[in-house]
Amino acid sequence: MSLPSPVSSRKIPFPPQGDAVWPEFLLSLNHRLSPETRVREREPLAPRTTMRVGGPARIYAEPASVEDLRQLLREAGRCALPVLLLGRGSNLIIPDDGVDGLVISLGHESWREFSRQPDGRIWAGAGLRLKNLCGLATKAGLPGFEFLEGIPGSVGGALRMNAGAMGGWMFDVVDEVQLMTMQGEVRTMKRAEMHVDYRHCGELHEAIALGACLKRPAAGASADIRRQIDVYQKKRGESQPREPSAGCIFKNPPGGSAGKLIDETGLKGLRVGDAEVSAVHANFIVNRGRATCADIIGLVREVRARVQSARGVVLEPEVLLFGQEWRDVL
Ligand SMILES: Cc1cc2nc3c(=O)[nH]c(=O)nc-3n(C[C@H](O)[C@H](O)[C@H](O)COP(=O)(O)OP(=O)(O)OC[C@H]3O[C@@H](n4cnc5c(N)ncnc54)[C@H](O)[C@@H]3O)c2cc1C
Repeated sequence: MSLPSPVSSRKIPFPPQGDAVWPEFLLSLNHRLSPETRVREREPLAPRTTMRVGGPARIYAEPASVEDLRQLLREAGRCALPVLLLGRGSNLIIPDDGVDGLVISLGHESWREFSRQPDGRIWAGAGLRLKNLCGLATKAGLPGFEFLEGIPGSVGGALRMNAGAMGGWMFDVVDEVQLMTMQGEVRTMKRAEMHVDYRHCGELHEAIALGACLKRPAAGASADIRRQIDVYQKKRGESQPREPSAGCIFKNPPGGSAGKLIDETGLKGLRVGDAEVSAVHANFIVNRGRATCADIIGLVREVRARVQSARGVVLEPEVLLFGQEWRDVL
């Protein structure tokens, strides 16, 4: 059976069976999952994101193992339910009426492994925070991951987005990725086989990253690594707002800077409801307290229109709209 698309940026079709499908799905999970796996109905998602807007997930699950993840996917497939992956929610905006699907988080501790392989490579579980990856690598005297330190995501989200900062990209340090297809098959792919681009990894549109084997780092001194991290932290501290946000809202256009275009168009401080173009960094939209997803979409629309009219450049969102396509709302 072909399964529904897993990933956030697709429009979610309402399950063809109607509302009855949800109890059927929950019932079908009985005795299939280990007691450590958490499954909840109507779980609020806003607190699970850095932007802090949006409604609940119809069903939210934190599988505790590969087998439980497989069972969730198989049953969701059988019931034709949409499946969405949530990392640390730092590159997402949740729609105000939530997500009518199964939202899976690899938040259980079993996905947070950091270990050194016998050949010197590092295994990083998809649920490991990038901050912890950097911290553990620093402690072990393993340089090369410093650029990831201030990115508030998980390894899984960073793989899907090919997250980058300070001149480095996630896939610069990846040797292979272990993933699960939506049919529940586990595969390992070499970095060279994967289609990776600016804020994009093609294979993870249709699959779930379970973790990655990171290239063998050179030996380094913890103090030097720490010093480099401090430099990056200072740079971020000076250039990024502190209010809730989802990071850079637009992708940089080829050869340009979205933040510079927005700033030069005079849009810092522009507001729709409680969503505001940050005065600190024009490519951040911040939540000034009670912003809604509708406020953010309205502001994205306004900024795009004004930059296009002033500078002739059409900005494309970098942040994802969970379960929807920007083109359907802009
Ligand atoms: C203050 C701030 C600063 C930021 N700075 C940067 C920066 O410098 N550089 C940068 O690149 N980004 C930055 N970001 C954006 C964000 O942190 C990154 O894109 C991060 O990699 C997203 O990880 P996440 O775990 O939060 O993923 P989420 O936001 O939860 O998800 C992002 C996408 O990944 C998918 N996904 C999540 N986990 C998996 C998985 N295991 N398998 C398959 N798909 C998965 C989701 O379905 C979604 O499509 C910043 C954000 C904030 C709030």
